[in-house]
Amino acid sequence: MADILILAETEGDDIVDATLEALTAARSLDGDLHVLLCGDAVDEDAAAEKLGAYGADTVHVAEHDLLNVFGTEAWGQALALAIEELTPDVVVASGTSKGNEILAIAAARLDLPFVANCISLPSELADDTDVELTRVQWGGSLLEDATLSSDTRIVSVGHHAVEAESADGPAADVQTMPVEIDELYARTQVVGREMAEAGVTLATAPIVFGGGRAVGSVEAFAPLEECAELMGGRVGCSRAVTNNGWRPHRDQVGQTGTRIAPELYVASGISGAIQHWVGAMASKKILAINTDAEANMVVKADYFVEGDLHTVIPAVAEEIKRRKS
Ligand SMILES: Cc1cc2nc3c(=O)[nH]c(=O)nc-3n(C[C@H](O)[C@H](O)[C@H](O)COP(=O)(O)OP(=O)(O)OC[C@H]3O[C@@H](n4cnc5c(N)ncnc54)[C@H](O)[C@@H]3O)c2cc1C
Repeated sequence: MADILILAETEGDDIVDATLEALTAARSLDGDLHVLLCGDAVDEDAAAEKLGAYGADTVHVAEHDLLNVFGTEAWGQALALAIEELTPDVVVASGTSKGNEILAIAAARLDLPFVANCISLPSELADDTDVELTRVQWGGSLLEDATLSSDTRIVSVGHHAVEAESADGPAADVQTMPVEIDELYARTQVVGREMAEAGVTLATAPIVFGGGRAVGSVEAFAPLEECAELMGGRVGCSRAVTNNGWRPHRDQVGQTGTRIAPELYVASGISGAIQHWVGAMASKKILAINTDAEANMVVKADYFVEGDLHTVIPAVAEEIKRRKS
């Protein structure tokens, strides 16, 4: 049976959902699932329970003071050392920017190949040393077939390519793994963290009310804000909006913005250019509000309201309020 090593990505004192996606994908491989947890920011027992529920057999806690805060070089070195010690057949992380960077550093240190952003993990990955993989390129607009030839196969699974699903497994075993990390690897570290705002983020919001160029001004986003607040969601926007300075870049959906995966994306006055679409395509359902029935976003949407967003969105807000009262 193969040994699969999954990198746990953490945010503050918790394990991020993207790691649960990677674990879910790794369950399709016939093997023992080992998870590498770097540092002591996450409580070991809580990690063993959470990761065990998603199928992890063993959690290896890499121990070193330099790992207690996030730093790509130090974490990359810890992963490289874990690969040398545990000699896994497959190494997996979620294809987030952190996950891909850490895998890339470990792969470079060990002179191993690495395939990023695979759409799934084929079962042959567990035991074949030559494996065909399909991965997304160019922000999701291109699917590329790659052959990975190596005794140690390092791959990331595209973020949101797989939905995290609990296996209701028991808590994983915990093993500590003291590692030697040179000070040299602490050149970049997260030393402080300031929460700009509380609540759901654009990436995790269950509903996103997006506005495009047709919204027209800073003030005209108010009805979208109202809808988002009423529904516990967030406002998103296109790059035309951030270019005009109507919303901050953190609200931008797309290739050079945030990838969203809400239950519902309401895209109003957004044409659905490919660079926007790649950030929105993981939405479960899309409702397009547009004056142009031929717009790309309309063609791809599950639902469409043909009309002026300046009339439709305030009407939606009123209807939500009426139903809530
Ligand atoms: C390298 C690169 C990276 C990029 N990255 C991103 C990115 O991350 N995110 C992103 O969004 N874009 C990105 N872009 C820009 C992208 O190509 C588009 O230019 C942009 O998404 C268009 O924004 P939009 O849909 O708001 O505007 P438009 O394309 O101008 O569309 C406006 C839409 O509003 C509709 N409309 C007009 N009036 C109304 C009305 N009253 N009511 C309802 N609908 C109306 C129109 O029919 C149209 O469909 C990138 C481009 C490049 C080159």
